[in-house]
Amino acid sequence: MKFTKLTTAVAAAVAATLALTACGSDDTASPEVASTSFADGTTMAKLQSAGKITIGTKYDQPLFGLAGPDGTPEGFDVEIGKIIAAKLGIDAGKIEWTETVSQNREPFIENGNVDIVIATYTINDKRKEVIDFAGPYYIAGQSFLVAKGNPAGITSPETVGDNKVCTVTGSTSEANIKETVPADQVITVDKYSDCLEPIRTGEAQALTTDNVILAGLVDQTGDEFEVVDSTFTEEPYGIGLKKGDDDFRTFINDTLEQSFEDGSWAKAWEATAGKVLPTPDPPTVDRY
Ligand code: GLU
Repeated sequence: MKFTKLTTAVAAAVAATLALTACGSDDTASPEVASTSFADGTTMAKLQSAGKITIGTKYDQPLFGLAGPDGTPEGFDVEIGKIIAAKLGIDAGKIEWTETVSQNREPFIENGNVDIVIATYTINDKRKEVIDFAGPYYIAGQSFLVAKGNPAGITSPETVGDNKVCTVTGSTSEANIKETVPADQVITVDKYSDCLEPIRTGEAQALTTDNVILAGLVDQTGDEFEVVDSTFTEEPYGIGLKKGDDDFRTFINDTLEQSFEDGSWAKAWEATAGKVLPTPDPPTVDRY
């Protein structure tokens, strides 16, 4: 999937969104709760009988996972969580949300702090050594956020030059940028939102991560920043779960595919990330 026209598309989509917002449109209504019965001993049966599920997500990423005024996160990842919970017979109000940052996602799954993680979480082989992934449910690509007008002229890892780039510890963004940019020019923090101040002060000239995370931060901060109009990686977003829980992985993959077909995935997108970004086609689930 290519995002070379993202900025133009974003501009058009923002205009459309402003029109929508003006009409007071808000359709993050919870999906209908199912009454399926699951085989004894499965994670699905356990969660259903507990009547709750703990989901790890980001709390500082507008459009995907951003803590709202009451502390409950909002965004596309959150809506995907509601779709999965509903299929388990769990109402959105019974989801226990836990903040995860990039570097604690695998340990939180391995240690059972959370049942699943839905947090702009790239599926890759290294992570699959310790956890499993359902999905993908979206495919992003890594890019750069820079000060408006791009004074340092950064358009790719190769054009970073002597500048400094900020990103998050334990992310694929950190690993990818370090393939080209020397480690002493890469500033690492816990959360992407912590990279904005270093750009304001001139300590860093860019923030690098997935284009859609960057688009959310630009949308949130007004006229200060812009996203570079190209990507240099593919980041398929998956749902992290305990390694070896194949029944649960199949259930989540089935639920995702159903949401692609019945329109609930597109509705979740349009109510969140779709307020700023164009609606993509659903990706193909990888049942490895
Ligand atoms: N999708 C990338 C990752 O999983 C970058 C975004 C993030 O850190 O959540 O590492």
